Amino acid sequence: MTLFTCAVCEHLLTGDLQESPASPASDRLLVHRIADPRVAQGTYAINYDATLFILHPDDVPGAALHPDSRRRGGCCGLHGQDGPNLVCTDCGAEVATKESDCWTENLVALIAAAVVSSTESSSGTR
Ligand SMILES: [Zn+2]
Ligand SMILES: [Zn+2]
Repeated sequence: MTLFTCAVCEHLLTGDLQESPASPASDRLLVHRIADPRVAQGTYAINYDATLFILHPDDVPGAALHPDSRRRGGCCGLHGQDGPNLVCTDCGAEVATKESDCWTENLVALIAAAVVSSTESSSGTR
């Protein structure tokens, strides 16, 4: 199981997550609805170039919406096209981008460079 913490302050961003194989990008039909989540709750996937961790939208309780409203654009949700829109609830560092609009994916993409992943079974010192 893997936990993700903020790289700046070590605040815990997620619960215990299990790695799952990356699912192919969903075929978005041109209908006005929110897509099904890209990954199942409790799991995460690593994107093709390992710069993002793809999480279920409800699996990032340690992150809050970006204080800058320009980052929170979207019509039915968040489109996430203007940069990271989720920040660490503790130190305010930008840690992830949430997409939840009717024409985007429905996911949270943790920025690999902004988070630290720790595996619970590793050493037991953390
Ligand atoms: Zn919409
Ligand atoms: Zn932080």
